[in-house]
Parts: sequence; structure tokens; C-alpha cells
Amino acid sequence: MKATQDPPVHDVIIAGAGPVGLFLACELALANCSVLILEKAEQPNSPLKFLPFGIRGLSAPTIEALYRRGLLPELEVHKHLKNPHQNAQKGARRQAGHFAGIPFQEGDIDTSAWTHRLPGATDNSLISEMAELETVLTRRATSLGVTIKRGVAITGFHQTAEEVTVLSNDQSFTSKWLVGCDGSRSVVRKAGGFEFAGTEPEFTGYTAKVDLVDGEKLSPGRTMTATGMYLQSQPGYLLIQDFDGGAFHHSEMPLTQEHVQAVLRRVSNTDVTISALHMGTTWTDRARQATNYRKGRVLLAGDAAHIHSPLGGQGLNLGMGDAMNLGWKLAATIHNKAPEGLLDSYQTERHPIGAQVLDWSRAQVAIMRPNPAARALNAIMRDLINTRDGATYFAARVWGIFTHYHLGGDHPLTGHSVPNFEFEDGTTIGELMHDGRAILLDLGSNDSLKKLADVFGSPLNYITAKAKEQLGLSAVLIRPDGIIACAADNDPDHQVFQKAAARWFIPS
Ligand SMILES: Cc1cc2nc3c(=O)[nH]c(=O)nc-3n(C[C@H](O)[C@H](O)[C@H](O)COP(=O)(O)OP(=O)(O)OC[C@H]3O[C@@H](n4cnc5c(N)ncnc54)[C@H](O)[C@@H]3O)c2cc1C
Repeated sequence: MKATQDPPVHDVIIAGAGPVGLFLACELALANCSVLILEKAEQPNSPLKFLPFGIRGLSAPTIEALYRRGLLPELEVHKHLKNPHQNAQKGARRQAGHFAGIPFQEGDIDTSAWTHRLPGATDNSLISEMAELETVLTRRATSLGVTIKRGVAITGFHQTAEEVTVLSNDQSFTSKWLVGCDGSRSVVRKAGGFEFAGTEPEFTGYTAKVDLVDGEKLSPGRTMTATGMYLQSQPGYLLIQDFDGGAFHHSEMPLTQEHVQAVLRRVSNTDVTISALHMGTTWTDRARQATNYRKGRVLLAGDAAHIHSPLGGQGLNLGMGDAMNLGWKLAATIHNKAPEGLLDSYQTERHPIGAQVLDWSRAQVAIMRPNPAARALNAIMRDLINTRDGATYFAARVWGIFTHYHLGGDHPLTGHSVPNFEFEDGTTIGELMHDGRAILLDLGSNDSLKKLADVFGSPLNYITAKAKEQLGLSAVLIRPDGIIACAADNDPDHQVFQKAAARWFIPS
């Protein structure tokens, strides 16, 4: 076995250069950690990562995370892309998203119900393309000094109290920490013996690009049938759900034109004919989550930590949230700057968010089942979603508007994402977070806060400024991931802020 020489020990090895591994690498490198990514694929960007298969909906926390690191302007695809939810007919109501295929309309959403939310850099949701996102993140990671080795599939690892040795066939690599971002079939998760608890699938999902001889035989739009659901989003682009208990996906049989046609005929109850299958993939609604995201010096993030059906498009967003939460905590741990329990808070904060997303996908499957009870529930849900309150609720859930952590504290904003304050000079809070540091925002020039910032030193960026719209706040302590650790409406209580700061940071 030959050992890698240069550098001998990285701070962190990340398994997988998917979006989550890449974004985590950026966060760690921004905080001065040395990072090596080992990626199984020789080449980035498989054809499935380009449009239309590579289409991904980004939710508010992901958009904010990219904005706060200055990455959002680098995403171009959404500027040229038609929102697939948008209705084609002129004057038609604009679909803003869906729950179990039931659309909610933009005009029904009451954004004024979302108090403490200031307009961000973009809408609350954004269409993106996996290939572009990974390209942007790869470029940033490389510019920050991250090493990416492609064509290296991790086959196992062993860890001691001080380090982790990562194995890839006849090679080995050593690091202080290993993070498995190696997707749903994670080798890190399996080799580490992480418990992966959850529920088994009810259907096989198909995404395929085909040539149809007689596509007009299919109904327009999303069509629920006696055995599943099908949708032809553009001519030849098919989405099918076949309630076979996930059998075909798990058989790992090759996807053939004959098979897709047979499934489409059965689900659509037509004799439609496919003359060519250009591309296709299958997936299921299996919903499982690692019960622990950490074992010693090994952590999991993204699909490696949780899997569920892509219904409602939340997996990527969930993983990006993991990376934003974990990066600064692991970096502080590596630099011996972590208060007790900081790294453990990755599990306590992110595991419940993951569990919520799994349940969100299960709830959708429950009302999509091809049986009378599910159809009855589906009809009731449709009525509710078509109300103003319903659309507002579903949009908030799908776009992650209320995603927050239970951090305790008296102020209602504690644990929530910081509103995007714009200051009198035109800069915004998001633009001030590009360096990945925490911020102590003093909106009232308070001497005691300045002294507190001096005690904590450079990890805490003290900013005193006048916000254009203050939302009644006088001071806010913001973690590097943009989460509010402490806030005050009136004269900030020095002790409360000091306690909050000491919970997340070590005085320098
Ligand atoms: C049809 C479909 C539609 C979707 N739509 C949405 C959506 O709209 N919004 C959304 O948020 N999510 C969506 N998702 C989910 C989203 O794509 C995933 O959650 C996301 O890609 C997870 O990112 P990741 O980096 O954790 O894992 P992956 O993207 O799977 O990346 C893992 C990486 O690890 C590498 N790897 C694997 N094994 C090893 C190994 N042994 N050694 C080294 N490297 C390894 C892989 O090659 C890969 O590059 C969708 C998924 C599907 C299937």
C-alpha cells in the first residue's frame, strides 16, 4: 500500500465532489483549513447534471448561503431558464411550486405574513442546474486552495483518537477529520457502521428523455392514474411514478426502451409508443436518515446522511444547509477555537431539519398513492392549497422560509436566518459575510457591544451602522452561517450578548 506524501495530513478529507462536498470544502478552506476532496468519478458533470435532468430548485436558505459567500452572481443559468412551474398561457396564474403535484400560485402567497423577512438578493426560490452549481463551487474551492483528486473511490477507512486513514484500493490518505459527502449510497456511512433508519419505498420514479411516436395520447400536465402518475414536461421529457414498491429500482436492471414503454403504457393506461430512449434514470421514495451524523472523527452530510424522494425538491437544499452549518463549527474545532459542544450542535441542529424534510416527502407520497383514500385526501389538500393561507403555508415550507434552530433565548428571531439588512451606504448584511466570519451588528453605536467584540477579537466582525429598515432591532449577533445567536430590540443587555457569544466562540 503506498501512502500519499504531500501534504501528509490534511485537516479534512471530504468524500465526494458533489454540491455538498464542494460547498463544505469552500466553507472549511475559507476558515483556513486544508482540505482534500476524493471523488470517485473521473470527470465532473455527467449528462444527468445538465438541463433538463439537472434542474434543481434552490430554496431560500440555499440562496442566502450562496449570496452570503458571494457565489450567487456566478450562477447564470436561472437568468435564461424558464421556470418549469410557470404556466404557458398568457395571463395564466403563475405556479410557484407544488406539494404532491398540487400547485400553489404566486398570487395567493401573502409574503407580508413573513414578518422579520427583508427582501433578499433574489426571489425566495431559484431554478438552477446541477452542472453549473458544481462548476461554480469547484472554481471557488480550487481558488481557496482545496485539492480535488478525481478517479479516487473511497473503499473504507479506519480512525484513531487523533486521525483518520482513508482507503481507496491500494492508496491511503490521512487527515484529522473525514466527512462523507459521497451521496445516497455512501461508502463512508456503510464502512462507518452508521445506523440508517427510516422507511422503505412505495414506488419507482423514472426520469427519461424519449422519442414518442404518438405523444398526443398522453394527457397534458401531471396526471394521476390508477397505478401512479405521469408528466410530460416538454415533448419527450417524462416523469413517471410507478407504485411497484421500488422493485424495479432495486433490481438494478438496465433501463431499456421496452421497459420504460411498458411502464408508461401501464401507468397512463394508453398504448403510447416510444421509438427511442435517449437517457433515463430511476429513483425511489425510500426515506432514511443516519441516526447520528458523527462517529468520532467521521461526519456525514448531504445525501450520505439522509435520503428521501425528490418530490418537492429538497435534498440538495438540505445538504447545502448541512454544509453551511458544519463548516465553521468543524473549522473552529480544528483550530482549537470551539467552545464545548460546538461540534455536537451540528447533530442537534441539523438532524431535526432532516427529519422534517423526510416527513414532508412521506406526506406527499401518502396522498399520491393510487387508492381511494389517498385520492380523497388529495382533493381536500388541493382545496386548502388554493386558499391564501394554504398557499402561504406551503410556499413557506417548500422554500424553507421558516427553517430555524431551537437555540433558546428570549428574542423571537434567535435561531432564525438574519434579515438582509441594507445599510445607509447601500451595502447589505449578506455582502458583509463573504469572509465567513461572525458579525456583531450594532445598530445603535453601543459602547458595551464594542468592548465585547474586542474581547472576542477577529472571529467576530463588529459592525456599527444605520440600517435603512431596522425592523425594531437595536443589536444582532450573527453566526458565520447567518443564524441569529442573539438579538435585542431595545438597549442590548451586555450580559445576554456576552453569554450568547461565549456559547459559540472562544475569546481570543
Ligand atoms: C430526479 C431528481 C430531482 C431532484 N430535484 C431536486 C431539487 O429540485 N431540489 C433539491 O434540493 N434536490 C433535488 N434532488 C436531490 C439532489 O440532487 C441531491 O440531494 C443532491 O445532489 C445531494 O448532493 P450530495 O453532494 O449530498 O450528493 P451527490 O450529488 O450524490 O454527490 C455525491 C458525490 O460523491 C461521489 N462518490 C460516491 N461514492 C464515492 C466514493 N466511494 N468515493 C468518492 N466519491 C464518491 C459521487 O460520484 C458524487 O460526485 C433531486 C434528485 C433527483 C434524483
